[in-house]
Amino acid sequence: MEEKNFSPIRKHQIKIKKPFKLNYKEKIVCPYCNNSEEFYEVIENATFLIYYVQNPDGTLEPIEEETEVLGPVKFFCGNCHADLTMLRNKRNNKK
Ligand SMILES: [Zn+2]
Repeated sequence: MEEKNFSPIRKHQIKIKKPFKLNYKEKIVCPYCNNSEEFYEVIENATFLIYYVQNPDGTLEPIEEETEVLGPVKFFCGNCHADLTMLRNKRNNKK
């Protein structure tokens, strides 16, 4: 749609596409330390594609960004760093 009429001059927008969603309906609780607040995700083998426009003064301005995740996405407890990927996947499939 809009991407085909992509005009780098008029549009200034950074777009990040993610092929996965974090839609939490239930809480994840780390079975090792009971942490339910802090988590982090490690994305392996991701490609970032950033489009730039060069300004007259030679500076580069990012106008669009795309992320393509090729590798596995791992989910860790932010407290004890246990791998909770299975826990999250199990919950996501429940629906
Ligand atoms: Zn933990």
